[in-house]
Amino acid sequence: MPLKPSLLELTPDETRERVMELGGKAFHAKVIRTAVLNKGILDYQGITSLSKGVREMLAEEMPILRGREVDRSLAKDGTTKLLIEFPVEGGKNALIETVHIPSHDEAKGATLCVSTQVGCPVACPFCASGRLGLERNLSKAEIIEQYLRGRDIGRLSRSVVMGIGEPLLNLQNLTGALKVVREEIGIGARKITVSTVGFPDRLAKLGKTNPGFQLAISLHTPFDDQRAILVPAMAKVPVADVLCAGDLWFKDTGRQITYEYVVLGGLNDSREHSERLAARLRGRRCTVNLIPYNPVEGDRFQRPSRDDVEEFAEELREAGVVTTIRWSRGLDSDAACGQLRLHAAQ
Ligand code: SF4
Repeated sequence: MPLKPSLLELTPDETRERVMELGGKAFHAKVIRTAVLNKGILDYQGITSLSKGVREMLAEEMPILRGREVDRSLAKDGTTKLLIEFPVEGGKNALIETVHIPSHDEAKGATLCVSTQVGCPVACPFCASGRLGLERNLSKAEIIEQYLRGRDIGRLSRSVVMGIGEPLLNLQNLTGALKVVREEIGIGARKITVSTVGFPDRLAKLGKTNPGFQLAISLHTPFDDQRAILVPAMAKVPVADVLCAGDLWFKDTGRQITYEYVVLGGLNDSREHSERLAARLRGRRCTVNLIPYNPVEGDRFQRPSRDDVEEFAEELREAGVVTTIRWSRGLDSDAACGQLRLHAAQ
């Protein structure tokens, strides 16, 4: 049987049309969207201002959530990882991860890390998500559903689009979902960071329509030959072109870029790397964020020592590059990107 259209797939106008098609009143659409998207009511039975008959009809004909939580993993620091399964019409169900990361200061709310694809075609060899290849893009509704499930764990104040998948390869569904996140769920554009490996043409497209997102570009090395190995889908795009795309973004949006750099012990943290990276970034207003590698079972990469990461950061700072270090949270709980899903697939 074909899947019935989910509320989260629809725009406000489409919701109104659908509700009226189903025999409801036009004003029900606003009541429903406010209750679900703004107030976080995830079951029509909880919208008590609607009659029992309307609630039952909606539950039958216009589902809110389609996914099923199949695993939840909680780290000592409060980070929660959800493994969510989405049904696929006539196909294999899709598994994705969403991570809820509470702030150290509870009053500040949490950051939600969302996925945009089932698997990832970029195939970075140090990433669990890249190992299983791409199955498909997530729909707009499936991206929004992650926010609703995340907010159900605890209040959200920020979001990073850094989970499974390459966001710019699912641009239309992502921008559709983030419109709802900004306008109806209530996380402002400036609190949303989109993280990409930096496809220049797609970045230019997003930059022109950008409503104010923060941008992070995963660079991982200043050398073309090494980037072709570490970020295989970008093998034909020189680092210089990625940096130019970043410059164009800055020109179009006025927003500085963060260059993400996964530090792989002994592989991309030498003095040669820091010097070349600093030379590449000279004159650019940006930040480098170092992410010490999180071990993934059975791969060949090493987590760098704390001292080595600090030293690499210091070399960059001395060369004039604004540099931060992001020590991953939740390491005790399948916390490396894509690990829950990898386990479920084994
Ligand atoms: S690190 Fe990001 S871009 Fe690379 S394979 Fe993993 S999810 Fe894809």
